[in-house]
Amino acid sequence: MPYQLTDSVQTLPGIGPQRAKKLEKLGIYTARDLLLWYPRSYEDRRESCPIREAPEDRPVCVKAMVATPPRLSRIRKGLELVKVNVVDDADAMELTFFNQSYLRTALAPGEVYIFFGRVERKGSRYLMTNPAFEPERNRRFTQCIMPVYPLTAGISNNLLAGAVRRVMEDCAQQLEDPLPGAMQREYQLCHTGYAVETVHFPPSWEELEVARRRLIFEELFFLFLGLSMLKGSGQGKPGITAQRKDPADYAKTLPFQLTGAQRRTIDQCFDDLCSGIAMNRLIQGDVGSGKTVVAAACAWLMAQSGYQTALMAPTELLAEQHQKTLAPLLAKSGQRVALLTGSMRAKEKREVYAKLEAGEIDLVIGTHALLSEGVTFRALGLVITDEQHRFGVGQRAALAAKGTGEKRPHVLVMSATPIPRTLALIVYGDLEVSIMDERPPGRQEIQTVLIGEDKRQRLYGFVRKQVQQGHQVYMVCPAVEENEESALPGAPPLKAVTAYAKELQESVFPDLRVGLVHGKQKPKDKEAAMSAFARGELDVLAATTVIEVGVDVPNATLMVIENAERFGLSQLHQLRGRVGRGSDQSYCVLISAHTNPDTRQRLKALCATNDGFALAEEDLRLRGPGDFFGSRQHGLPPLKMADLAGDTRVLYQARDAAQTLLHTDPQLTCPENRRLRERVLQLFEEHRDTFN
Ligand code: ADP
Ligand code: MG
Repeated sequence: MPYQLTDSVQTLPGIGPQRAKKLEKLGIYTARDLLLWYPRSYEDRRESCPIREAPEDRPVCVKAMVATPPRLSRIRKGLELVKVNVVDDADAMELTFFNQSYLRTALAPGEVYIFFGRVERKGSRYLMTNPAFEPERNRRFTQCIMPVYPLTAGISNNLLAGAVRRVMEDCAQQLEDPLPGAMQREYQLCHTGYAVETVHFPPSWEELEVARRRLIFEELFFLFLGLSMLKGSGQGKPGITAQRKDPADYAKTLPFQLTGAQRRTIDQCFDDLCSGIAMNRLIQGDVGSGKTVVAAACAWLMAQSGYQTALMAPTELLAEQHQKTLAPLLAKSGQRVALLTGSMRAKEKREVYAKLEAGEIDLVIGTHALLSEGVTFRALGLVITDEQHRFGVGQRAALAAKGTGEKRPHVLVMSATPIPRTLALIVYGDLEVSIMDERPPGRQEIQTVLIGEDKRQRLYGFVRKQVQQGHQVYMVCPAVEENEESALPGAPPLKAVTAYAKELQESVFPDLRVGLVHGKQKPKDKEAAMSAFARGELDVLAATTVIEVGVDVPNATLMVIENAERFGLSQLHQLRGRVGRGSDQSYCVLISAHTNPDTRQRLKALCATNDGFALAEEDLRLRGPGDFFGSRQHGLPPLKMADLAGDTRVLYQARDAAQTLLHTDPQLTCPENRRLRERVLQLFEEHRDTFN
């Protein structure tokens, strides 16, 4: 009986219950899962030559006969050698295998094998160490491009390659092609069966490219379909039209000159706001790039035409902070501004409600309280949300729904998390993106250094010095409680902030004022600690990443990050943005005992630049999109194939294909699109309820 896609891997030769268990760890249960377990790289084993013609700089395949029985020798405990002599028509070669004593019986004298390895010359002798090999009469994994799979303990690459190959023979053509035929023709995509087969066992690099492109397209296409369906199709809806005004008229009310990026972004927003079509725009800019000014300019423009603006922030403290930042930006332009947060007294709230309804407030700044039922606007024209990654798409929409009348309010999203363009396209698929990649003049770069445990005492001295100069210090730990999350094996334990704060206060800085803030505190305690720090009543704030989205404390000049290896680049950059907000030189100290070269490369990248976009690209390259947002806050399905840092062209094509399809059938309800819809639902399992 031929294998079926749904067969358990256990039915394959060489895979019993134990290996099946190990494969489960990789998420491989069935023959289909095996086929969809793509190689992470390849080894070119196509070149073959006689022993004497072998190049010395690269591995090649050599056909040779085993001439002597393999000899086993124990050099010392834990080091065993197997040596074998092999010959071809003209020469002899000595093979050495380390710690593979089973080979003593695997290599049969008189039998011809293909050995893949690098041939070394020592005088007149030829040597090869640890070659891959197989009998010539049963050749599968030599003289070909060999897939290299992501593995787990107890599962070898050959085992996986063999199993995949076996399944492929029977099942590749059973894979149903999820893409409509017309689409395959339009975008010149090969058939799925061919693509999968070629990705595992490519006859040539050119064919591999064709196959990869097809699989990447498919992956991104479904991703876009799902995301667009999730977001609903708010695009191109008629929007409120503001009267055109010259941005310079607003700019002259400001106490400073706009940066080029601010001017450009304001122009883009004004175009949108006056276009008659609802704006959906994301402003991405590093902390301190001056996004709030753009928000203020937009609110100003709307107010000129009699429309109101609502600005929503993720916490009360941030809402208050916005008001403080905005006050000087609005002082001269005569806008009427109010704050609305959940903790305000009922009477105060009612006052704000009344004024909003009467149109006596131009700009309201608040938290989720803005979404509550009591809130009605006279004429809501613009909704601004800050720190996008804290809000769901749903909340943005809920606020926009408070608009009255036929036309939708404009939506502006501000994000301080620079993300690469390609990823922005996916995460914010329905948004236009403005990038603010310039800081107001006169800002200092934050000096960042990476240190190990040996410099801890010096660091404490530096902390003390900053405080003596009247500054404040953040000290960040990855965990709240001890052993809440175990450190990597062999690594020093993770710093836990509760114990850390206690230690700092009791033994290290008994004479300083040390505070504590973390995500498991009650919101009230959290805000209390943050405001105490903001008011200068604390010298040192021991914290978890909750401070990432925090209040501005221009007096804080030093950020210390413990177990820095535990954080992604973007997150470290975000944390670092908490300092350097005043005019004094600021510092960030990363502490890590890790010696892993990848980790060190990541941390060094942070020391080398203050450019959030450059770091975001690097982060994406190093970690892949799945990890990019930490705990997959966006519910993005993981991508197996697409390299978002590189595959931009296919990305645009896949997006076009998805948009074209959804244009005619927004929720994929037509019978001929049922299969596509099923597939999207499967992919976005977590969001099943949201699709309708
Ligand atoms: P972010 O992009 O982090 O939200 P803000 O809008 O809060 O940045 O701006 C940070 C600070 O820089 C604010 O105090 C703001 O008044 C100031 N600022 C903004 N734009 C400029 C500018 N062009 N020149 C000087 N200062 C500016
Ligand atoms: Mg801001």
